[in-house]
Amino acid sequence: MSLLDINKRMENEGGFIPPVLRQNIVTGDWIVIAPGRSRRPDDFIHPKSKPVKSKEECPFCVGSAGFKNSDILSNHGDVYVIENKFPAFYQKKTATRSYYPEEGFYCERPSVGQHEVVIIKDHNLGLTKFSKALTSELFWTILERYQKIKQDDQIFQITPIYNHGPEAGASIDHPHAQIFGSGVVANTVNREMDGAERYFGINGVCVYCDIIKHERKEKSRVIFENEYFLAFSPYASRYPFETWIIPKRHQSQFETSSRNEIDEFADATTEVLYRLEKILPDLSLNMYIRTLPTTMNDCDYYHWYLEIAPRLTTFGGFEMGSGLIINIVPPEKAAEYLKSN
Ligand SMILES: [Zn+2]
Ligand SMILES: [Zn+2]
Repeated sequence: MSLLDINKRMENEGGFIPPVLRQNIVTGDWIVIAPGRSRRPDDFIHPKSKPVKSKEECPFCVGSAGFKNSDILSNHGDVYVIENKFPAFYQKKTATRSYYPEEGFYCERPSVGQHEVVIIKDHNLGLTKFSKALTSELFWTILERYQKIKQDDQIFQITPIYNHGPEAGASIDHPHAQIFGSGVVANTVNREMDGAERYFGINGVCVYCDIIKHERKEKSRVIFENEYFLAFSPYASRYPFETWIIPKRHQSQFETSSRNEIDEFADATTEVLYRLEKILPDLSLNMYIRTLPTTMNDCDYYHWYLEIAPRLTTFGGFEMGSGLIINIVPPEKAAEYLKSN
């Protein structure tokens, strides 16, 4: 399908054409082509200094012109959930099987799934200012939605994420998380599971459990620890101040956490966010949860965790070309800053 065809189809179908998954024929990685998400040319311009939208025109503020109460899927006091208006994964009940367009050369399949937005009520509250109680409410809401989305057997992987700040691709200022439920396993999780399975085959233990044990003994990269969670700078950090927050007991699935564990998870996450904000005010960052595909029940060799990726640097040609990332802050140094602040 040429760009011209895509434009024509978008006009015919009121600006929305369903997203599709396309597979890289060489690496096997999946890509989502979602033309409905970028319709105006200025959507392609780097959103560095977008004007702050007023509450009246904010699509996530209850009571604004664009917001309908009937859109709310779940409500938890200061946290509510709606469906994404431009989903990368859409709910239509079509077949999920792959097909092979262009005379059977490439592989494509409908991008079915679910894409929800988890919104914090207060329009002006930035992520690094959330109280521990609010963060816990946010994580618990995500967990409840996760369990609901998981019931859809067309969905293989659920990825909760949070974009904070313009450098992190937050297109709407209003604080919100998103939950992506996709019909394919995440490329990252796929790769990690391969490596973790190999490690398990050789050593008979979960590699993440071994990392936790090693880091707690080594101490130089540990930032914070509470009863159930460890926050540390990974040994081979790709970004300055990259941080992992990981459950200390072996747990492959995020959604099996208890309320108590979610409280501790929120405690560790906010601790790290407060410290990052203190030494790097107004920084942009992404956070995302990597967890077991929903096609599996439990797993001895995979272990869920949250990754915080501060957006302090951008990738240049070498990083893009080689995939070898140059990180200018050693993780031991990053942990030292975050420990003492
Ligand atoms: Zn708002
Ligand atoms: Zn483990």
